[in-house]
Amino acid sequence: MAGMKGCLSELEKKMLDSISDGKVDEVKHLLNEPDVRVDCMDTHGMTPLQHAAYKGKKAVCELLLAHGANVNSHEHEYGYTALMFAALSGNTEVVKLMLDAGARTDYINSVGRNASQMAAFTGQHQCVSIINNYFSRDVLEYYTVPKGFETEPKLPSELVPSLHKLLLSGNLHPVHISLYLRDNKCLLENSEKVTKVLDLICEKNMKSKETNDIRAMKSHYMSFLVKQCHKFWQDKQENLSAWIKSLLRAREGDGTQEVMEQCVRQALKEFPYVESKLLQQIVPTLAKKKIGEQPDALMILTQALNGQQFGSDDTACDTCGETGAEKKCSACKKVVYCNQVCQKLHWFTHKKFCKQLAEQYQKEQGRLKQEQEAVLESMNTVKEAEKEIRELNVEEDKPGAGENLMPTTKEQ
Ligand SMILES: [Zn+2]
Ligand SMILES: [Zn+2]
Repeated sequence: MAGMKGCLSELEKKMLDSISDGKVDEVKHLLNEPDVRVDCMDTHGMTPLQHAAYKGKKAVCELLLAHGANVNSHEHEYGYTALMFAALSGNTEVVKLMLDAGARTDYINSVGRNASQMAAFTGQHQCVSIINNYFSRDVLEYYTVPKGFETEPKLPSELVPSLHKLLLSGNLHPVHISLYLRDNKCLLENSEKVTKVLDLICEKNMKSKETNDIRAMKSHYMSFLVKQCHKFWQDKQENLSAWIKSLLRAREGDGTQEVMEQCVRQALKEFPYVESKLLQQIVPTLAKKKIGEQPDALMILTQALNGQQFGSDDTACDTCGETGAEKKCSACKKVVYCNQVCQKLHWFTHKKFCKQLAEQYQKEQGRLKQEQEAVLESMNTVKEAEKEIRELNVEEDKPGAGENLMPTTKEQ
């Protein structure tokens, strides 16, 4: 269906206009015309799908894909793909759509950048995170069919949905992952199979033509955490709470969570591919940091995998790191949680710091109040000055003087 660059029929030209305007019905109608090709190209080698992705028009993209548009067309004069255009648009839904349609993430454009790097370059960090953390379901489905002499598959197919969700998680916080595994017991019950498959995915990402050490690192990290949780899981009565508590325990003084830090560092240490550029980038940064110094191992890992900048997010849950947490500790108002479950898990260690944090909060509030009062006072001074000026102006009987803030210069 692909055509020569720039050889567009009148109706195809019309379709490109309709795409830019996001007119789904018109595009739908035009696609049924005999001389309209779904993968026709304009003079720049840009396809209708690429146009739609660039404009962030999700419904049009869906329509074109349903009509068989090639998501991996790579004929654009500067080597841009539909996924790159989607990333530039900043529309995360369109990015997901392209990935689900099988978009290759390793294609590079004429300046040597792939889609994720283009997104980072243009500041679309959410798109970077989605692309880097993407694993298609097919990656897992592959292991649900017995290979060669195998009598049973490496992965029972009923595990695919929960394992897929684990792999897609952008939140790498060990407590978040542990809570997820606690809620998805099937992964722990089959931990040997699950970790084997994760390790194979890791290997595949390092050794295949399409090397992707972000995905390799991610599957290794998840495999490591499944193994860790499984060790504690064997005592089924206690439901991982001893493990989660050990992660959360904060040391006296600076409140550093030492076990958590050790856990993430250990995961990185056990990454089997020392030739990985990503690992070579992480290790020197981390080696300079003592335990308790910022950025910690989790921040460095998150930055490496998701492309996010360091810095604390005010809405990140103090227990599990999930963003968008809104429930504050009512006593100190200095920590925030997703829900009561997270608050309860944290209390055994937070209670040692709560009073101290509450005092800090009071001090901050006091300082804030002083600052506000100072601002108000300076505003009063301005008002008084204005009043004086007004009175002066009234004395001089100037028209409209009441509106003036500054003394007017007298004309000579
Ligand atoms: Zn939480
Ligand atoms: Zn508190």
